[in-house]
Amino acid sequence: MNIQEIHKQFLESSGVSTDTRKIKKDSLFFALKGENFNGNSFAQEALNKGAKLAVVDESEYATTDRIILVKDVLKTLQELAYTHRKYLNIPIVALTGSNGKTTTKELINAVLSKKFKTVATQGNLNNHIGVPLTLLSMSSDTELGIVEMGANHQGEIQSLCEIATPDYGYITNFGKAHLEGFGGVEGVIKGKSELYLHLIGHKGSLILNLDDPIQHKRVGSTHTYTFGKIPEADLAITYALAEPFAHIKFGDTIVESNLIGQYNEVNLAAAAAFGSLFKIESSAIKEALESYIPSNNRSQLIKNKNQTIILDAYNANPSSMEAALRNLATTHSSYRLAILGDMFELGEAAAAEHQFIANLAEQFNIDQIILVGANFSKTQNEALCFKSTEELLEKGLPEAVQSKLSDATTLVKGSRGMALERILNLLEIK
Ligand code: ATP
Ligand code: MG
Repeated sequence: MNIQEIHKQFLESSGVSTDTRKIKKDSLFFALKGENFNGNSFAQEALNKGAKLAVVDESEYATTDRIILVKDVLKTLQELAYTHRKYLNIPIVALTGSNGKTTTKELINAVLSKKFKTVATQGNLNNHIGVPLTLLSMSSDTELGIVEMGANHQGEIQSLCEIATPDYGYITNFGKAHLEGFGGVEGVIKGKSELYLHLIGHKGSLILNLDDPIQHKRVGSTHTYTFGKIPEADLAITYALAEPFAHIKFGDTIVESNLIGQYNEVNLAAAAAFGSLFKIESSAIKEALESYIPSNNRSQLIKNKNQTIILDAYNANPSSMEAALRNLATTHSSYRLAILGDMFELGEAAAAEHQFIANLAEQFNIDQIILVGANFSKTQNEALCFKSTEELLEKGLPEAVQSKLSDATTLVKGSRGMALERILNLLEIK
């Protein structure tokens, strides 16, 4: 079967399945391979559970005419997504960047869905499998797609762009994330900019934050729509943190969001810029942004009388750590406590970046710093240090810290592997 024929089958199906535990009736099952499993061996089970067809790439599993044998299942899924995207012929917005992609994607979706039938990436499905699945979740009803693209090495954004062929693109920022795979900060800039190069090559539009010097340089490279504090921006923005929530203003419109942290101001601004570019009324942009409540466990605000906990334990890298610390330092509180866990995937920059954050935390207006993890333990610091989350759980917080908890604002942030949310019960007021 060639890709056009598979696409025809796809259009007549209920969609794509890749997991036999969640088979949709009449779907096309794609037998992907993982580190610990070979999807090929589940093809028959998928059919038994109601899949219409299964796509495999090992001939021994192609046992019935409902099992289609292809050279490479993953490549076929990607080609199908590309074919489908061309067939739909709708505008696609792509987003990448080091931090804030998912939040910004959700905000843009909230705004653009005021006017269009949108489909956006579900959760964080932003890689070589997630991007095709996102495109394949769009139907002939869909008027506009919003696709998050994640990457941890060079070339990845380019290949995701080749599949999604976006018309509009925004890069949230160029930060210190995945330094190991990208080869330093310059590598991050180059890797993320693959989105710009793709759009420039395809006469697409770049949405640029003029306050970011790297984005500023792209003005004039192709069609651009700009936002930022600079009055010359197409959408001039005023930022204001109305603690702890991010607020922005454009024109006469004030947006009072439910998002915590100064770093969300720019995420809101980007979504407002998309709204303005797509000619959505300011009042509708305001309504969309104000009614968005984060539900993805990132930057959760937990309040208990005078105690505030900013739980941001989903992930961490030097840029998001800096943003979160800066935010903590500017909150009005009689006691600011930072509990910071190790940042992963930094490669040879790990020692220097942990030291940088340890120093930064000391410079900021923070009353008590607690560092957790093997990397932070190796830094020169005056903080309280624990070698692991387990050690902190075992030893607990010192009495001097505990006695302040009832009036404290506490930031809890570390990489996913540290699972710092486990320490929440240590913050209970006794
Ligand atoms: P992932 O790489 O896991 O997909 P992401 O880029 O989608 O992450 P989000 O999930 O939106 O990012 O946010 C993750 C964290 O990044 C937030 O909790 C916050 O700490 C930080 N963050 C969000 N927006 C920004 C920003 N504009 N600048 C710096 N840090 C940010
Ligand atoms: Mg994400």
